[in-house]
Parts: sequence; C-alpha cells; structure tokens
Amino acid sequence: MINAMKYALVTGGSRGIGRAVSVKLAEMGFFVLINYHTNQQEAELTLQQVRDQGSDGELLKFDVAVQEEIERVLGQWQAAHEGAYIQVLVNNAGIRKDALLMWIKNEEWHEVINTNLHSFLYVTRFLIKDMLINKMGRIVNVVSLSGLKGLPGQANYSAAKAGVIGATKALAQEIAKKNVTVNAVAPGFIKTDMTKDLDEAQLKAMIPMGRFGKPEEVAAIVGFLASNEASYITGAVINVNGGLYT
Ligand code: NAP
Repeated sequence: MINAMKYALVTGGSRGIGRAVSVKLAEMGFFVLINYHTNQQEAELTLQQVRDQGSDGELLKFDVAVQEEIERVLGQWQAAHEGAYIQVLVNNAGIRKDALLMWIKNEEWHEVINTNLHSFLYVTRFLIKDMLINKMGRIVNVVSLSGLKGLPGQANYSAAKAGVIGATKALAQEIAKKNVTVNAVAPGFIKTDMTKDLDEAQLKAMIPMGRFGKPEEVAAIVGFLASNEASYITGAVINVNGGLYT
C-alpha cells in the first residue's frame, strides 16, 4: 500500500524547542510524531497545537537514551504503517546536568552523554534505512553553542553536543548521494524550561541582541532544513544565537 502522507519525528516534542518545531512542521503539512519522555500532559498540548495548524500527529513515548525502547516503539509504528516512512527526523531531545568537571559525578556525565549523544545513534540508525531506500530524507540535529565553544560547568553537555556535531558532518558525507541531508542547528540561549534556572538578566548582557531567543526562532531554521528548498545543504551547523559566538 502506498502511503502519501509525509511523516516527521521530533524527539523531545513535548516542550520548548521541540514543541515549536512540531508546530512548524505541521504548518508545512507534515504528520508529526511527537516523542516525549515522561510529560504526557505537555505532549498532548503540542499535539493540540499541531492539529490547530490543520495537520495531525501522534504521541510516541520513549526514552531516547534507551535503544531497546526506541526500537520497540518505532518498530511498532512501522509495522502499523506499512508503505509509510519517516522522512524527517529532528533529534531534539536533550538534558543538561551542569557541574564543574572537578565535581561531576559519573551519573551526571553518563546521563547527559546518553540522552544527548547516544540518542542520536539509536534513533538515526533505526530510521535511516528507509530514507536511503526512498532516496529522500532530512535529519536535523539540535546541538548547542556549548558544543561549539564549550561552556564552563558543562563539560558533559559540551562533549555530547560536540559529538553530535562531528557525527552530523561524518554522516552527511556518508549519505549525501542518496538525497538524505544531515544538518545541525546550534542555539544560544533560548527561553524554555531548560534555561529557566539561569540568571537571564546577567546572561543577556553578553548577547549582542540583548535577549534570549524564542523557540520559534529555532524552529524556523529547522523547518527550512527539513524542506525541499534546503536540498543542497548538508553537513552544516547553523547558529541561532543572537550574535553570541564567543
Ligand atoms: P526543554 O524545554 O527542557 O525540553 C526538553 C525536551 O526533551 C522535552 O520534550 C523532554 O520530554 C525531552 N526529553 C528529555 N529527556 C528525554 C529522554 N530521555 N527521552 C525523550 N525525551 C526526552 O529543552 P529545550 O530548551 O526545548 O531543548 C531542546 C534541545 O535544544 C535540547 O537538545 C537542548 O540541549 C537544545 N538546546 C537548548 C538551548 C536552550 O537555551 N534552551 C540552547 C541550546 C541547545 P518530557 O517533556 O517528557 O520531559
């Protein structure tokens, strides 16, 4: 059976940047698979906003750090949608657990690496085959300024995001001929739950634009990279940071 619906998966779609990306992709006509970890109520709210765009979606609960969970849930989805494939993958789910390296606990290191870096491998490897067979796919990885410049107190997070940036560039070259693009978007400080414990007044003084970004300002470029128009862009890392580079 041929399924003409275009599917996009957004990991960590229940809140923040992932929600804004889900809404953007819905506006572009995608059926959006909204992954979340524990927060079903917020995920339902994203789904409502996706439907408000005149599109539709469904919730997929799995922990992006656990390979077995990912493969079970996505495998069930594939079995239930014969002839369909996920054309757009936005690897967005992420966490931070900040500590100076001297004091960092093994769990804080491993949890951040598993959720931000290993997740990229598990989810992407599972979905990439269908993109290659169909000779059309878009993978967008949400990384961070922290992965480019390194931020003190974030050695674990900086390492994970830098790892995803390296993998983005490598994978982009592996599969470019198959019309599957792989890019990264590197936000600076964006106003979401992830940054709500930070001292915004102090930090925004360092940002040339003098403010934190909005999730929609990240979603706009993710949407573009997921579109047909971005067909010749691959292996790129695009900053969305209000001019804050160093
Ligand atoms: P957020 O508001 O804290 O939302 C995090 C999202 O990730 C939630 O949907 C959460 O699901 C999901 N998530 C967390 N752990 C997960 C897991 N193990 N499995 C599945 N989903 C999981 O964060 P955000 O600010 O939107 O950040 C989104 C991405 O942008 C992250 O990769 C982050 O590192 C990156 N980023 C953010 C900023 C910023 O300033 N905000 C800057 C640079 C990069 P639940 O709702 O179920 O918990």
